[in-house]
Amino acid sequence: MTAKLLDGKAFAKGVSAEITKSVASLKQQGITPGLAVVLVGEDAASEVYVRNKGLQTKACGMNSFEHKLPAQTSEADLLALIGRLNADASVHGILVQLPLPSHLNADLVINTIDPAKDVDGFHISNVGLLGTGQRALVPCTPLGCLMLLRDHLGSLAGLNAVVVGRSNIVGKPLAQLLLNDSCTVTIAHSRTRDLPSICRGADILIAAVGRPELITADYIKPGATVIDVGINRVPAGDGKTRLVGDVDFASVSKVAGAITPVPGGVGPMTIACLLANTLTACCHAHNLSESALSSAS
Ligand code: NAD
Repeated sequence: MTAKLLDGKAFAKGVSAEITKSVASLKQQGITPGLAVVLVGEDAASEVYVRNKGLQTKACGMNSFEHKLPAQTSEADLLALIGRLNADASVHGILVQLPLPSHLNADLVINTIDPAKDVDGFHISNVGLLGTGQRALVPCTPLGCLMLLRDHLGSLAGLNAVVVGRSNIVGKPLAQLLLNDSCTVTIAHSRTRDLPSICRGADILIAAVGRPELITADYIKPGATVIDVGINRVPAGDGKTRLVGDVDFASVSKVAGAITPVPGGVGPMTIACLLANTLTACCHAHNLSESALSSAS
């Protein structure tokens, strides 16, 4: 079997085009959605992510506000900035780029964001709303995975889903979304026994681990849908590096029914969902009907 490629890049382009249209119509009503991104410190990867987010935010017509703070910024100063952004009516979404320097309490910082502006969906209120099946701002990477799955499979009801990875950012919220879509969900992690046999029970297999090409063909039920969240940089010879996922694409794509590539799978969906969440937050702030794009809970 040769798996169907789930092209996240093309899908995300379509989502962004819809968002651009919605933003244009909001602007005719005098409303411009705004996303504030806060970066503390000089982490090179984070700087690239923040730059990309800013460019894509502007490309779809929204306002982008970047706040770059030095690594030694005090917690009080960071919390004060978040307080100002919470009170600023031109800011509809606030994202604090993680990881934060170790002297800052990330939980406290995230939980200081107004939940209505928490476009990353990490505030404890949004986590609770998602966990109880209520409307929430949903974390972007899990939301992107869900959109790809629904697009490919239609209804997910009754399917066996195995999520490998239990982080608060990806694994847990994704498991919750799949449960809300009536999948039978198993969460596997670093202490799971006999991971291959658990994965072989999956109609939907999600890998969110951070271990290059951990998942090989012998983990896969023939015809399964495989979503690879992992982003790992590995040596490619000549002193160069290349990106690979948590799934061994070459072997798994011969057994699976469908698979996301790395790069070009989940990654582009994450940023499209960030823009969708910002649009949703803006619509809610103005009592306008919510974008269908983000009604995932
Ligand atoms: P994390 O390090 O917070 O969590 C990794 C999880 O994998 C843990 O729950 C751990 O229990 C589990 N794990 C580790 N080794 C394992 C093993 N051998 N077998 C089974 N489970 C194991 O990572 P994260 O933030 O959830 O990210 C996971 C991966 O997804 C990383 O590669 C990250 O770069 C990538 N990621 C991609 C996007 C995107 O937009 N595509 C977004 C976020 C994260």
